[in-house]
Amino acid sequence: MTQTTVSTSLFSPQLKESQSTQTKHSLFADASSRLEQALKHISMSEDAIERLRHPKASLTVSIPVRMDNGSLQVFQGYRVRYDDTRGPGKGGVRYHPNVTLDEVQSLAFWMTFKCALLDLPFGGAKGGITVNPKELSKAELERLSRGYIDAIADFIGPDVDIPAPDVYTNATIMGWMMDQYSIIKRQLSRGVVTGKPLTLGGSEGRNTATATGAFYVIGATLPKFVKNPYNTTVAIQGFGNAGSILAELLFKAGYKVVAVSDSQGGIYTPQGLDIPSIREYKNRSRSIKAVYCEDTVCSIVEHQVISNAELLALDVDILIPAALENQITADNAKDVKAKFIFEVANGPIASAADPILAEKGIHVFPDILVNAGGVTVSYFEWVQNRNGWYWTLEEVNQRLKVKMEAETERVWSIAQKLSVDVRTAAYVHGLNRLGEALDAKGTRNYYIDLG
Ligand code: GLU
Repeated sequence: MTQTTVSTSLFSPQLKESQSTQTKHSLFADASSRLEQALKHISMSEDAIERLRHPKASLTVSIPVRMDNGSLQVFQGYRVRYDDTRGPGKGGVRYHPNVTLDEVQSLAFWMTFKCALLDLPFGGAKGGITVNPKELSKAELERLSRGYIDAIADFIGPDVDIPAPDVYTNATIMGWMMDQYSIIKRQLSRGVVTGKPLTLGGSEGRNTATATGAFYVIGATLPKFVKNPYNTTVAIQGFGNAGSILAELLFKAGYKVVAVSDSQGGIYTPQGLDIPSIREYKNRSRSIKAVYCEDTVCSIVEHQVISNAELLALDVDILIPAALENQITADNAKDVKAKFIFEVANGPIASAADPILAEKGIHVFPDILVNAGGVTVSYFEWVQNRNGWYWTLEEVNQRLKVKMEAETERVWSIAQKLSVDVRTAAYVHGLNRLGEALDAKGTRNYYIDLG
């Protein structure tokens, strides 16, 4: 029943043309412009550059799902393997009504640079299903997730491409996916998916990893600007897994988190919000309210309700976009007043906004560094699955801290050395590692020398 189209850029020259017309104003074209920007600061073989301009393989599938009312609904799904020179493809699966192939390609592109930047032995990949998961029952969600794996099973594998959670997917869904793949292969294959429930071979600390990684990057950065948590105000757009856990980590470390928002809107209190009680309320009610709790008694406190647009324009030290891509664009970049932006979402700033933010002296720390904690602990999970030897939460967080801080320092020193912004430095750092691996496979010069 499942329809499958595989396109591999290497073998389809006509794809190049149709792709470039199709993606003229696409997210992927925007994402690629950061690569072109970084290439100005690095000498790389032309072969490696050309390889990195194209996704290696893109799979589009139709997933038929029997709904609870007996009807059949067909969902569109994707998996893109952008590059696997440094290791198997790695990246999450997103469930969202706006998922398109263009978006999944962009996300797979970012994963490629993220894994190289963190020196993980992985390439970059991403998947997605065009669906509003909030409209499905749990049983429908399970059938959809298992159907997705049925459709892409030949395209993934512990040594081929390893999915993980992303926007609106979670450990339960990863458990179903790993189980379905194991059923298909007639072999328990824990290492095929990361972000699983602990009891099915998940890792300690994976659920909190994106937020914890971002927390380490922020902690390693602020002292460079003579800032400490107690004199730092923060606004966070997005109160999902990454945004809400990061809000709590920052709150507990003494930062003043003055605003948070979710897709419905946000709340703002200049004196600082009590994040643990807001998380508790959100978990219970699925909406954000400022709550004050004393012992077991909680009451909803007065707060200013703000829109997402207003949150992005708040006069704070740190702005953290932790929702979706394209939130800060050429249209609203001029309104941003924060001194630092840490991108916890993938691609929240459009490339056209970069020069406007730079002009205003705003320091932007890019997604491929700031949110890399998630995939780093996914790597730890994959290692643990292969060894059958599981680590404690302290071991996971300690190893995560060492990696995030070391790569933050490397990116920072490249930025200083080349006098470039931190995003360009991050791409240069990832490109160095990718270029080395691509060249090791043989370049044009290598063959010319042989001749
Ligand atoms: N979805 C996460 C990201 O964008 C994690 C990917 C993974 O763990 O493979 O980095």
